[in-house]
Amino acid sequence: MMKKLLPFLSMMMMLTANTQEINIIPKPVSIKTSKEKFIINPFTKIIEAGSGLHKTALFISDYIKNVYGIQLPIVKNNGIWDNAIVLNYDRLDNSIAGAYNLEITKTKIYIGGDNEAGVFYGAQTLIQLLPLEYKKSLAVPQVKIFDAPRFAYRGLHLDCGRHFFDVAFIKKYIDFIAMYKLNTFHWHLTEDQGWRIEIKKYPRLTEVGAWRDGTIIGRYPGKGNDSTKHGGYYTQAQIKEIVQYAADRYITVIPEIEMPGHSMAALAAYPELGCTGGPYAVQQTWGVFDDVYCAGNEKTFSFLQDVLDEVMELFPSKYIHIGGDECPKTRWKTCPKCQQRIKDNNLKDEHALQSYVIQRIEKYVNSKGRQIMGWDEILEGGLAPNASVMSWRGEEGGIDAAKQHHTVVMTPGAWCYFDHSQTKNEDSVTIGGYLPIEKVYGYEPIPASLSADEAYFVLGAQANVWTEYMSNPNKVEYMVFPRLAAMSEVLWSSKQNRDWNDFEKRLMNEFNKYDFLKLNYSKAYFDMKASILPTANNDGLSYTLETKYKNGTITANNQLYKEPIIIQQSTNIVAQLKDNANHKVLSSITQNFSFNKATGKKISLVTEPSKNYPGNTGAFGLVNGVSAGAKGISSAEWLGWNGKDLEATIDLGKPDKISTVKVGVLKQEGSWIYLPASAEILLSNDGKEWNAVAKALPENGAWKDEHKIEINFTAQSVQFIKVIVHNYGKIPDGKAGAGNNAWLFVDEIEVN
Ligand SMILES: [Zn+2]
Repeated sequence: MMKKLLPFLSMMMMLTANTQEINIIPKPVSIKTSKEKFIINPFTKIIEAGSGLHKTALFISDYIKNVYGIQLPIVKNNGIWDNAIVLNYDRLDNSIAGAYNLEITKTKIYIGGDNEAGVFYGAQTLIQLLPLEYKKSLAVPQVKIFDAPRFAYRGLHLDCGRHFFDVAFIKKYIDFIAMYKLNTFHWHLTEDQGWRIEIKKYPRLTEVGAWRDGTIIGRYPGKGNDSTKHGGYYTQAQIKEIVQYAADRYITVIPEIEMPGHSMAALAAYPELGCTGGPYAVQQTWGVFDDVYCAGNEKTFSFLQDVLDEVMELFPSKYIHIGGDECPKTRWKTCPKCQQRIKDNNLKDEHALQSYVIQRIEKYVNSKGRQIMGWDEILEGGLAPNASVMSWRGEEGGIDAAKQHHTVVMTPGAWCYFDHSQTKNEDSVTIGGYLPIEKVYGYEPIPASLSADEAYFVLGAQANVWTEYMSNPNKVEYMVFPRLAAMSEVLWSSKQNRDWNDFEKRLMNEFNKYDFLKLNYSKAYFDMKASILPTANNDGLSYTLETKYKNGTITANNQLYKEPIIIQQSTNIVAQLKDNANHKVLSSITQNFSFNKATGKKISLVTEPSKNYPGNTGAFGLVNGVSAGAKGISSAEWLGWNGKDLEATIDLGKPDKISTVKVGVLKQEGSWIYLPASAEILLSNDGKEWNAVAKALPENGAWKDEHKIEINFTAQSVQFIKVIVHNYGKIPDGKAGAGNNAWLFVDEIEVN
């Protein structure tokens, strides 16, 4: 009996040691560990046992010197593998290159990769085993690891057009990419708001196009302009330096030169390339602009080809990204040159003209031995024959392209856009959306609808970092970490090896590492989940607090939280999550509850809100004592209707004397959200026979503060209240989204 149990027990011990000490992200294929250690001391040599491994030897030596102040010697192979970090090649069997063995014994650390990159990835794993404290000798656990990547393309993108980041930060960013065994840096270099790459033949691109005279303040459409000159660009010498820096870390830099849209900065420098001839300005606000390169002008093509010549000279990547997204056809429709081009080439319409541009550029790029990559709009009007597609508007573009046997990189916004908020309590401006780390972790790059043969065309995936609302490196780090850790596991680790609960444990160590390396990161993981629900008798609110952090304790107004709190009057609750180990506050929520006669009461809706804006708890969110109020569009309290009206019935439970109804509304016309056209109040004692008592129109002052409609009527005692708020209707001409249905956003309904 004992004999049978033993292997099981020793396995248990091994697993325990595993969780205590080994916290590698992305998760390797297999790990065997023991409690013994190898000690790296100043006499530990780094041995290059194979050729071509000097870059990795240098990387390890630089890292240990920079972080711990220990200088390790690098030596050629002398056959004495004792007190050494040995870098070598092993024959490994993995379909995607980059596999490695890492074996740490009492006498040495051995890394054997299937190619140079594999050895480098082994070194990154070794670095993750180093202690997170400054020491003169570094103890690392004895392990035997085999590891191999799942996808060939593992990318991270950075938009340097909306905001410019200096060379030092770009290098740091490349180190982030390397740290997680990613291998592609997609560098977005041209935008409406700035041209960032020196082109010798067209100096005005950076003299004029790299600078804007101001930037909008706050979220689009903004509250004014900061009137501060912003800009900068990378010289060709700097770009060479960055490309080399990346190559030393086995990272390919794919440059993106946007065309035919997102090109206002280029047009500001060379207005003759636009349909109207300008004048144009480098843009100071975000969005999509009607002025794009003129597709009917031969000069546009010679310009783009000249630019691409210099770009291809600087970037040795197989793929050159040419954008292709968000190109309005407005100017082309009225431009004689563009129309002539359509006629001459028997093109169907302006979409076919866009396809013409992309295909013509593709031919040119192909003639130089390279391939184009573009956003999924390049599928419209016919895909260029050899193009690779980056699927961003969802998975559909990627699915289409893979079915047409084109290579695909998946970057669907819902899982891969790191400009989205990662917390519901975000206090800095972001572009919107909600992408928590769990959702990133749960992403599967191979769409379920692809067959195995089609899935072959999915090269991998990429996280995108658009910088409208990231004006400095700290903010970029905050948006990237820790979501990049989750993405790395999606891209590197095998599907069956991915397990959120296991990742969560390793993530705790990752936070310590960020602290140790002084990186800025989001602590959204520790956010509590708060829910406001009705009580059983509709006589108040039930406030529930939850945390996924297992080693923490929640307090509410300094009392230990054990069960949902029943709230029956206006109050303020400060909830905190504290770490059990050190009592540090990991997160907190301050929630103000404001009671009126409708708070916590039964409410029903005739028309459900849009799936995109359902509120936190559906209709009940309108009477939960919490207003979306000051948080603006980012509040999850809003219920939104597209083109439809709100019709809500509130049951006070018993007759009560009332004379006022207030309805919280949102006005944000840039986002198609309009104030209502009118509102009506009906009252009833039985919920069947209704009596209309008031109607509010914009002209009679009901909208006075733009955030709240206030409707007054003669005081009376009733049990049921019907509130109808009529949608604005169609968006008028000359406004963003003209002709589309307006959104109606409503939050709290107050009755008094
Ligand atoms: Zn034109």
